[in-house]
Amino acid sequence: MNVLVVEDERNLADAICEILKNEGMKTDVTYDGTTALTLARSGIYDAIILDFMLPGMDGIEVVRETRRSGISTPVLMLTARTSTSDKVNGLDAGADDYMTKPFEAPELLARLRALTRRTGDVILEEASFGDLTLDLTTHDLRCGDKSVHLSGKEFEVMRMLMSSSARVVSKQDLLTRVWGGGSEASENSVEAYISFLRKKINHLHSTVQITTLRMLGYRLEVIL
Ligand code: CA
Repeated sequence: MNVLVVEDERNLADAICEILKNEGMKTDVTYDGTTALTLARSGIYDAIILDFMLPGMDGIEVVRETRRSGISTPVLMLTARTSTSDKVNGLDAGADDYMTKPFEAPELLARLRALTRRTGDVILEEASFGDLTLDLTTHDLRCGDKSVHLSGKEFEVMRMLMSSSARVVSKQDLLTRVWGGGSEASENSVEAYISFLRKKINHLHSTVQITTLRMLGYRLEVIL
C-alpha cells in the first residue's frame, strides 16, 4: 500500500511515516499543501493522510481540488481542532474520515484499514470508460457482447488508465504503480503493455483508444 503523508509538523510527519513503514506500507511525505495537491493528483496513492492547517494551501482546499480532478483516493484528515464545523467542512470537501491530534498508532492504522476497505467495496465489481467495462474480479475487458482476458500487468495498466478517467497518466506513474519503485522495468515495458492493450481494445471494436501524448504519457479517449 502506497500512502501520501501531508503534515507540516515534521516530527509528526516522520512519526506517521515510521508507523506506516513498520506495517510494510510505502510512504511519500510532503510538508505543504501545494505540493500535496500535485502529488495527490497523480492518482498513484492508495490513501492520503492530510493535515488540516498547512502552508501554501490548507487541507480542505487540497481535498476539494483533488476531488475536482476526479481522484477518489481515500483521504484521512488530521486536525488539532475539535469543532464540529471543521470536521463537517472537511467531510463536505471530500475527505472520507478525520482524526483529531494527538492520536495513537493503533487508531491511525485502524482508520486507514477501514478507509481502504471502503474503497475496496466501492470499486469491487468493475471499472468503466466509454463502451469498455473492466471486471475487477475476473480481469476480463468487455465491450458489448465481446470480451478479452487481460494478463496481470495489462490489467493493472488498464485499471490505472480507467481510474484516471480522461486525464493523462505518465509512463513514470505507470512504472511506479504497476511495476513498483525498485523494479528493473523500463519505459519500454510500459510501451509494450500499452501496445498489447491497444491490440485487445481493437479486437473488441471499442470506440475507446489509448492516446499517446508525446513526453507526457497516455490517456483514454472515446473516438466517435
Ligand atoms: Ca499543521
